[in-house]
Amino acid sequence: DKVDNPYSGSQVYVNPQWSERAAAEPGGDAVADQPTGVWLDRTSAIYGNDSPTTGSMGLEDHLDEAVAQGADVIQIVIYNLPGRDCAALASNGELAAGEIDEYKNDYIDPIVEIQGLAKYADLKIVNVIEIDSLPNLVTNVSPRETATANCDTMKNNGNYVDGVSYAVAELGALANTYNYIDAGHHGWIGWADTNAQYDNFNASAALFGSLIGENGMTADDVHGFISNTANYSALEEPYWAVNQNVGGQALNQNPNLPWVDWNDFNNEKDFTEAMREELIDNGFNEDIGMLIDTSRNGWGGDYRPTGTSTSTDPVTFVDESRLDQRFQKGNWCNQAGAGLGERPQADPEPWIDAYVWIKPPGESDGSSELIDNDEGKGFDEMCDPDYQGNIRNGNNPSGARDDMPISGHWSSEQFQELLENAYPPV
Ligand code: BGC
Repeated sequence: DKVDNPYSGSQVYVNPQWSERAAAEPGGDAVADQPTGVWLDRTSAIYGNDSPTTGSMGLEDHLDEAVAQGADVIQIVIYNLPGRDCAALASNGELAAGEIDEYKNDYIDPIVEIQGLAKYADLKIVNVIEIDSLPNLVTNVSPRETATANCDTMKNNGNYVDGVSYAVAELGALANTYNYIDAGHHGWIGWADTNAQYDNFNASAALFGSLIGENGMTADDVHGFISNTANYSALEEPYWAVNQNVGGQALNQNPNLPWVDWNDFNNEKDFTEAMREELIDNGFNEDIGMLIDTSRNGWGGDYRPTGTSTSTDPVTFVDESRLDQRFQKGNWCNQAGAGLGERPQADPEPWIDAYVWIKPPGESDGSSELIDNDEGKGFDEMCDPDYQGNIRNGNNPSGARDDMPISGHWSSEQFQELLENAYPPV
């Protein structure tokens, strides 16, 4: 039988390939023994493809090594949907929009077979399912002005829904697996509104719920959801509340406050607590748990505020009080100034199964300029430090670091900055 929280009292697998890179950096020893996600970001990653991204170890190598480490839990990222990353270019993958059969037969089925081998029966395998896919079908499709052609395609051909439900159903049928589906983060999905044009929160939960029944997927196949994967949203904002009255108006009712922009949340803790309830209302089990990726949302360093601003001007008040130093919360690529967040830990809050490091710190989100590669990765302007933005980030500067390699490749500079700006400090 599956346990309620696979992380409780568990030792979690340390990926030796990430660990070695981290340990080779100055000061990296301090975090090199932390567990991070193993990303199966291409079909060949299942077998080990010697790429700079996933290295020489395939899935079976990682699982064998987990058993050898005496680990109770290993974290695998399922990330290879057809038409992957439809609102961005930096993590486009190898499968074209229509290649759903290849996804099921060549990617999911072999993973299921390997995870189901008898020698792994005592290992709890956490599968983090398809980052950024379903939320894109809510926020980045027509008739919204944020729509992209690729997201419209993936909504209309149904292959994200088909692929995710198939993955969850097939993996969920194994006795030793724990599926957590990606649910975006508060700065993306945190708007509830009775007007469908502005509602991301209820619509996302409803979309997730609509997968139940597809490809035989049941509520029992879903152990929980994860927020903030590979993103930078703060775990909490201790110095201000989103509905606080400043200058005569609640911050989340202020039409001239772009940082808040009517969002119902300003942090991942509150978002996941509310989202969990909404998911249960949409058919998921009462005992689902949430994960939060805290690998890069620490926001320590020189700019971190130490208290609440005394300004009565709402914009100044929020800018002086907030931990998250981004230009705008739609910024997602290699954010300059970011730091490591909470170290991985189980049961930090009653509704949260664990803080996890799914994005391995030091691995790029995308290249700062176009770099040829054989991984299907494109170049996204959101990774160019000089880019002044688009409608999806409110036309703000990208905030990205310079000189970054393609997504998944290592950056010593970024790793060292994350270490330097870690909060809690390392
Ligand atoms: C990349 C993957 C990589 C992962 C972890 C993603 O952005 O597309 O190739 O494995 O990040 O670094």
